[in-house]
Parts: sequence; structure tokens; C-alpha cells
Amino acid sequence: MSSRRVERVRAWLAEQDLGALLVSSAPNVRWLTGFAGEGMLVVDNGALICTDSRYRVQSCEEAPGVECAADGGHLEQAIARLAACGAARVGFEAPHLSYANWQKLAEGLEGVELVPCGDEIRRLRAVKDTGEVKLIERAASVADEAFGQWRAALEPGISEREAALELERLMVLGGAEKPSFEIIVAAGPNGAKPHARPGPRTIDVGDLVVVDWGAQVEGYCSDCTRTLLVGEVGEKQRAIWEAVREAQLAAIDAAVAGAKCAAVDAVAREALRGEGWEREFSHGLGHGVGLQVHEQPTLSQRSEDVLAPGMVVTIEPGVYIDDWGGVRLEELVLVTEQAPRVLTHAPYDL
Ligand code: ZN
Ligand code: ZN
Repeated sequence: MSSRRVERVRAWLAEQDLGALLVSSAPNVRWLTGFAGEGMLVVDNGALICTDSRYRVQSCEEAPGVECAADGGHLEQAIARLAACGAARVGFEAPHLSYANWQKLAEGLEGVELVPCGDEIRRLRAVKDTGEVKLIERAASVADEAFGQWRAALEPGISEREAALELERLMVLGGAEKPSFEIIVAAGPNGAKPHARPGPRTIDVGDLVVVDWGAQVEGYCSDCTRTLLVGEVGEKQRAIWEAVREAQLAAIDAAVAGAKCAAVDAVAREALRGEGWEREFSHGLGHGVGLQVHEQPTLSQRSEDVLAPGMVVTIEPGVYIDDWGGVRLEELVLVTEQAPRVLTHAPYDL
């Protein structure tokens, strides 16, 4: 499977008239070869993982059949291979190579034209194959299961930090390698910060609590958000929760193959405008999820991406009110030839 992915990169290199590519983004190296350690990858007529002695065994296990060099600096070994392959034009990943490393590359490859490339491999990664979708679904189900247990046992008085730790514990016991990102548990006014970090504040009766969490399974991530209410629901809390839920459902329906990501974002924004909350929806609607929790495509007002079958994206509208709190609801959705398929199934009620 990984060799097919390398083939696709090679076909792209041929189109660009490049003799080789230096891949320095770790998730891209992992996607292309299976190797999850630190290092770089040279794709030329063959492929060479450039790592160090710490990863000699791991690279053979994770990337059988891919040549590996583990006898020196990552970049130095890559330069030696690139010089030896005789390519006149060598591409590098401009978003993922430091200036210092670019300088070393230029010094080591005198006479070779270095061509800055964008995020071609990330673009390829946006469309998942069936094996990848299965892993994301597994990650989602581990996260769902843990959340169900966590919610059933949740008692007022616990701090956000402790609650987040408990959810993490349940995910790991349930089969996650780790959380796919730092879990957000934001109670009361803290919910107004979309990326709040769990702190000492306790979860109290009357609080809306935004919980954003995900599991990682074999490198693949899930991502999901629910907003809970502790105790009796106030009118404003319910109205906003329902407006966000409606915006989300409308956007999920719109997430079909061929749809412009900006148009899907607009569906949610339009729904919230109808309820008078559009200005409080301060971020994009969603993002792709895979080996990274944030990857392509981007669902936002300015996005130029278009949905294609096999993409896995989040749909996560939210309303945030300073000093009051927030409501965000997030599902993970697989874009298919037919209707979008929701991959997250955590309980939904307030
Ligand atoms: Zn999330
Ligand atoms: Zn997300």
C-alpha cells in the first residue's frame, strides 16, 4: 500500500520535471512508508528513509521493504543520497524544511536546482483509503465509548483538569494510544474560548461544559465535541444549543462530494444568522482529520478546497459569548459518493 503512495508521488514528480523530492514532514513520511519515528525520506527512483540508530529496528518493522539509512544525521544522509541520484532538479517541502536545513541542503547539493514545493503530499493525504477510514472509525468508537462512561460518572465539583485526565484515562484503557490532542473541558465562561485549556475551575451546577476530545489509534485521529449542561437547563442555553445543532445538521447534509468547502461553511453560518448568532460563530466550520487532527481540506469562509469522496472532515459550528460561555458541537463525517456518513456516535443530549 505504501509503495502505491510513493508511486503517486513519483508520478507527480515526473509532471513537475523533478528528479527527486526530500520529504521532511513526519506525518508525510509516515503516510508514505509507515515509519512513525523521526527522520526524513528521499523519493527518487527508489525511496530512502534517513533516520538514526535509535530507529534502526523500528524503521525495519514499520516500513518493511523500504530502504533505510541510520548511520548519521538525517539531513546529511539525505544529501548524500540526493547527490548520488544525479537529479538536476530536487524538490523540497517548503512548509516543512527549516531555513537552516535549507541552507545545508543548498551547500551540500551545489549545482542542483532546489525547487520549493507546497503541500502536495498533504493534498494526497486528504482522500483516505478504506484502511485509513477503518482506523479513524476505530479511533472514533474508542473515544465515543470512553465519553459515555465518563459522562455517566461525571459529578459536579470536579475540576476541568481532573475531568480531562479521567476522560484521557478511559480512552487509553479503551484502546487509544493517546488522546489525538490535548482534551478541552471548558466549564461556564471558559467555554467562550474555543481552544480553552482545562484548568482548576470546577464544573458546577448550571454550567454549560464544552468537551472536545479525540483518540489516536495506529496514528489515526478522531475529533468530536459535545456541550453538556450540568443541572437544569436555562432558556438561553437551550436556545443556543439548539441553534448550533440545527446549523450542524444542515452543514452535515451539505457535506457531499463536489461541494465547495466554503459553501458548506456558509450553510452553517446562514443557519446561525437565522437565529441571530452568526457573529458569535468566530471560527471555521471544520477541517480534515487523519494522521493529524488538523489536515486538509479546510472548511472555512476563505477555503478554496472542494470535498471529494474519501475525505474525512469535522463539522463543528459553535457560538461563543464572552463572560457567558459557549456551545460547540462537532461530528466527524466521511464524504462519500452518496450521503455523508457520520463516524462519531457519542450521546448527544444536553
Ligand atoms: Zn475537536
Ligand atoms: Zn476539530
